[in-house]
Amino acid sequence: MRSDIEIARSIEMKNIVDVASEYGIDADDLEMYGKYKAKLSEDFLKAHEDKKRGKLVLVTAINPTPAGEGKTTTLVGLGQAFKEMGKSAVIALREPSLGPCFGVKGGAAGGGYAQVVPMDELNLHFTGDFHAITSANNLLAAMLDNHIQQGNALGIDTGAIIHKRCIDMNDRVLRNIVVGLGNKTDGVVREDHFVISVASEIMAILCLSKDMNDLKERLSNIIVAYNFKGEPIFAKDLKAVGAMAALLKDAIKPNIVQTLNHSLALVHGGPFANIAHGCNSIRATKIAMGMADIVLTEAGFGADLGAEKFFDIKCRKAGLSPDCVVIVATVRALKYNGGVAKEDLSNENLDALKKGIVNLEKHIENIKLFGVPVVVTLNNFVSDTEAEVSFIREFCESRNCEFAVSKVWEEGGKGGMELAEKILYTLENKKSHFTFLYPDDISLEDKLHTIATKIYGAKKVVYSPAAKKALDRAKALGFDKFPICVAKNQYSLSDDPKKLGRPEDFEINVREVYVNAGAGFVVAITGNIMTMPGLPKVPAAEAVDVDDNGDIVGLF
Ligand code: ADP
Ligand code: MG
Repeated sequence: MRSDIEIARSIEMKNIVDVASEYGIDADDLEMYGKYKAKLSEDFLKAHEDKKRGKLVLVTAINPTPAGEGKTTTLVGLGQAFKEMGKSAVIALREPSLGPCFGVKGGAAGGGYAQVVPMDELNLHFTGDFHAITSANNLLAAMLDNHIQQGNALGIDTGAIIHKRCIDMNDRVLRNIVVGLGNKTDGVVREDHFVISVASEIMAILCLSKDMNDLKERLSNIIVAYNFKGEPIFAKDLKAVGAMAALLKDAIKPNIVQTLNHSLALVHGGPFANIAHGCNSIRATKIAMGMADIVLTEAGFGADLGAEKFFDIKCRKAGLSPDCVVIVATVRALKYNGGVAKEDLSNENLDALKKGIVNLEKHIENIKLFGVPVVVTLNNFVSDTEAEVSFIREFCESRNCEFAVSKVWEEGGKGGMELAEKILYTLENKKSHFTFLYPDDISLEDKLHTIATKIYGAKKVVYSPAAKKALDRAKALGFDKFPICVAKNQYSLSDDPKKLGRPEDFEINVREVYVNAGAGFVVAITGNIMTMPGLPKVPAAEAVDVDDNGDIVGLF
């Protein structure tokens, strides 16, 4: 079996100018980053981003195993399949973070014969968007600490600083640190924290902004801290907004690359779905909808996290209305949900499958709450047995769900034809009655209660005293119209990663609450979830190298 990077390298890429021209994008509309990567120009974006001609399809999944269940692979394979069918389709996905690349999961450019290329560049640095986001975030942090050092005219309470530094790396020692040690000129001593860049508010803002003006407005509204009177201090009070916008000037333009069969892929923004809102940028999705009849996009992790936030945050803010949802399931994740250990997932086990299928059942029910037609796809692994595949097919068909096996990992576009046909059938024959899970004007507690009980299946939400206080403050400051962005582990529908399948009779424990007033949502941190991940005992980074030809190896 060839590795992802070997497959990626075996295909001759086309110049991105030629790929783009097939989609009606002129060379003049591109800002080139080498021969195979480009950004779309502001002129092109302005001319096409509000056309909304395409239908919108979301690719989501059941609760995953730690290796990921193949949403990106499925999405990319569908882009290839639709191209082979001669359909007008564009895929829009997220940019990979270095955290998972060097941690457990590996890259995020698809896999096997369904990949976006150049996969090594996409996975590492790409067009520098994450560096720009990290720099803008840390400029704000530097200006904040400098303001305090230079006399603290705003009266910032160093015990009530909200804004955190960030880095795009899994680095657990930065979760809780002390800054400003040394002499008087080395700054004011205080406790500080890092988050991974994909969990930063700047990342969310980049993904939710319509254009530069909107971006600046949102940056202005970031709450960096509270003063001694308990009033919020915003990024605009530190006069940081112009310089942050300057750093993000190029990062707010969507990137384009190609798949293995030269279909077009928009890759832009990359918040995680467990500790952030989990969707690619609104700009990329909208421009894709202006360019093609069918637009496919993904949201991270399981549908309890990614899809819920896609609907209730992204679609709400962007005025989007999805037409179809694809739920990716795998035999191995269903067995995992049925209690099988990671090492044994390749062995046939119908009993575990029957036990674990309740997880898929719950996600199907959840998507139906949003009124969007569902197609379930089984992302086929070579170890799947016929009995296992038939069981899942029958389960879905008995629930009146469209179902297709996807073999895009093994076969590329050809392996996605059955699924592509089911999506086309659904778009043509089943009407979406899309609705948000909750309205804007119920209380923040009621919103959280709705998500926890209806989507996760919890019996109630329990708040820590600090979370309760933060919620009261958010309400007092008038932020109660915002939607909620729940930070929760991705393995379980509950806040405990060990409760697999379809847990019942559990509580959701909210530990911390804060307002992302620029992004426009309230974050609720549940269970033990961390906004700065750590590396595993054997990080994927140990396998990565540069060979004698100067090529990167070991990136899956
Ligand atoms: P997700 O987007 O859901 O997190 P990915 O598409 O990134 O998942 O896939 C996770 C990993 O699993 C990748 O390394 C990918 O190559 C691999 N993978 C996906 N589908 C298959 C498959 N059908 N067979 C073998 N490996 C697969
Ligand atoms: Mg993915």
